[in-house]
Amino acid sequence: MAYKAISDERLIDWAIETVHQVIGGEALVQVEPRLELKGKYFGYADLVSGDHVFDLKSGGIASKPGYKAQLAGYALAYMEDTFRDFAWCHELYIDSQYHRYYKITLDEARKLVHGILDAHLDEKSEPSACCFCKWCKHALTCKALTEDIDEEDMKDFNLNNPEELAEALHIARRYKVWVEAVEKEAKKQLQDGKQLEGWRLQKRSGREAINIKQAHEELYSKMGSEKFLECCTMNISKLRKIWGEHYDDDLPVEEFITRSRDTVAMVEDK
Ligand code: SF4
Repeated sequence: MAYKAISDERLIDWAIETVHQVIGGEALVQVEPRLELKGKYFGYADLVSGDHVFDLKSGGIASKPGYKAQLAGYALAYMEDTFRDFAWCHELYIDSQYHRYYKITLDEARKLVHGILDAHLDEKSEPSACCFCKWCKHALTCKALTEDIDEEDMKDFNLNNPEELAEALHIARRYKVWVEAVEKEAKKQLQDGKQLEGWRLQKRSGREAINIKQAHEELYSKMGSEKFLECCTMNISKLRKIWGEHYDDDLPVEEFITRSRDTVAMVEDK
């Protein structure tokens, strides 16, 4: 929420700066390479370079081990392909500007990834809800998300008791994934022209946007700088970046830059 008013571009700027700090300005990079373990899986990391695999993440910071399984999948395919015996994995949480990184060896990645693949192929294994369910294509129908939805004691939580509140929260998060999957499917069916009793689509106006250069050209001479600037917001990351590209000294307005109050996010503790 702290960054609601900040454009995606500014968040991406933070990620670019972080990557730059890790690999330097001269390194060769591959953007969104397809990383594949033949016949098993494939995926697209956001960026790889040398010993490093980067993936951008939006939303809250995933509690440890974060996206290690996903990054291990990318890293394993990358290491096999480039004959490396280790890689550095980087999770870049753009909304909170948090950088989690860890080294993974070829053996560790093989163990982790093949363990997941084996469990996936085991006919006796049952799905178990986790923090990745929200990205799963089975979220609409997976029983693991709704297994206890009709149990009687679901209604008996004492939400003033921290232990029961914590347990209720785990269940609520799990249902939320299913709820969102149901809403998404319902919206899709309505858009496809199907009838859902009691529900309809309502049109909402799209967000307005204007090219700031064009607005400046058309209005600046009439409005003057003071009024025109009242309507603009500053991208501080971009300001620092462009300043740094053209001038050697520090940005002279650093002392005027203010920061809004820190916020807290609620993440699962494992
Ligand atoms: S929704 Fe079900 S199948 Fe998908 S990740 Fe969660 S538990 Fe596994």
